[in-house]
Amino acid sequence: MVKPFVPQLVYIEPRALEYPLGRQLKKKFTDMGIEIRETTSHNQVRNLPGENDFQRYRVAKSTLVVGIRKTLKFDTSKPSAEYAIPLVTGCMGHCHYCYLQTTMGSKPYIRTYVNIEEILDAAETYMQERAPETTRFEASCTSDVVGVDHLTHSLKQTIEYFGKSEYGRLRFVTKFAHVDHLLDAQHRGRTRFRFSVNADYVIKYMEPGTSPLTDRIEAAAKVAQAGYPLGFIVAPIYLHEGWREGYRHMFEKLEAALPEAAKKDLTFEFIQHRFTKPAKRVIQKNYPLTKLELDESRRKWKWGRYGIGKYVYTDEEQEEIQTELKSYLEKHFPAAKLEYFT
Ligand code: SF4
Repeated sequence: MVKPFVPQLVYIEPRALEYPLGRQLKKKFTDMGIEIRETTSHNQVRNLPGENDFQRYRVAKSTLVVGIRKTLKFDTSKPSAEYAIPLVTGCMGHCHYCYLQTTMGSKPYIRTYVNIEEILDAAETYMQERAPETTRFEASCTSDVVGVDHLTHSLKQTIEYFGKSEYGRLRFVTKFAHVDHLLDAQHRGRTRFRFSVNADYVIKYMEPGTSPLTDRIEAAAKVAQAGYPLGFIVAPIYLHEGWREGYRHMFEKLEAALPEAAKKDLTFEFIQHRFTKPAKRVIQKNYPLTKLELDESRRKWKWGRYGIGKYVYTDEEQEEIQTELKSYLEKHFPAAKLEYFT
């Protein structure tokens, strides 16, 4: 069992205290006896304790910065949604392959934003622009938002906001099982609650600091019982010795543990492992003993967004992955919808 996240160090922007959530969090962390420091900007947290980059990276991953989200222009979030809704940036997990290691560069600490109403107002503007089309918002593009929400409840507030909205839908994905406070949220079926799942090998060796698969599945069953539309992201699909068996077991465990009602409206997303050259450098620096295979010569080069290339599996391997995983999906969850493989 991985315990719910408790930061070792908290930074607060003075302006965050102008918001009720900022004041609540300051009180909460003071009562918990956690060291609180002031920072002028959540983008400029400096002097984190630690003697070298390796130590400072680990301290940063357990540091929470309470700030204000100034940029209210949302990024797009294809293929899972139209827009990314920014509630939190950064994550306490230590998944070796995580793309946040490169996208967050020198700021691996966790930032939570207290101006939730302003963020939701911005979401409303995006929804109105597209109405009467539905607009989907993804809340986990730059974080694992569930991992910190037991402290902030900003995701819960967002779920309830979308519960009342006519044209908006919310989605997020998590590797954490700490979902109890979200079970009574008034979601009205407008939030799809997804869990990231993987073969035992990947979870054991490459996802330290996240909840074990059994806990994630148990949480998924509770979420389904609370009436949320449920989904699973199998990511990253990673070829390792015994991968077929590993993924087959994963599907078997899922089927055995989920209540029948949860199987009616299920979505799956399949995402193969990929990496970029800069990501490889950062991963090997932050997790020098990783078992993650990052050999460019065994992969296929693929141009990505903004001209940044990445290494994916070869066409034959991709075919094999798709055939194999689709067969498990059809066997165990014939009514589920596969949203995409990428
Ligand atoms: Fe990254 Fe998700 Fe792992 Fe957090 S839980 S480190 S966001 S992959």
